[in-house]
Amino acid sequence: MPRLIIRSSDIHAAGCFALENIPKRTRILEYTGERITKAEGDIRYEGRPFTYLFGLGDGEVVIDGHGMAMFVNHSCDPNCETDEEAGRVYIAAIRDIAAGEELTYDYCLYDGDDEAPCSCGSKSCRGSMYSPEELKKMARAAARKKKQAEPAAKGNGAGRKVRTKSK
Ligand SMILES: [Zn+2]
Repeated sequence: MPRLIIRSSDIHAAGCFALENIPKRTRILEYTGERITKAEGDIRYEGRPFTYLFGLGDGEVVIDGHGMAMFVNHSCDPNCETDEEAGRVYIAAIRDIAAGEELTYDYCLYDGDDEAPCSCGSKSCRGSMYSPEELKKMARAAARKKKQAEPAAKGNGAGRKVRTKSK
């Protein structure tokens, strides 16, 4: 495993940084943590502004992140991606990464109740950590809601967000 360090990040709070050059396609670290059901994740994180849940496969089982990979921040123009293999999730370099660079991957959030504004600062920033597909879905739902002039149905405040790899 390449040497990494957790330190403060311009993107968000703390981030995970490379201490040495990492060649493209290197598996850098594993997204470790307890495997729980999506329902259990909902209960654990109810009322919290964010989670470290990572959806596996069809999203019925999630990893409750515990370890260095939790600190890898989102970017809309990332240098890593997540790789799922036999129920384990790895963060792998999609380009050469230089010593000192912060590791990032695209969270492609789905199934959340709150907004998840992005501050990655990349030129291609889409302004949200939700996946492009999820943003389209939300826009359609919002348009429907407006049309029906329903009273604003406020979520239960769980603010759960699940990370999944993009399709
Ligand atoms: Zn962004």
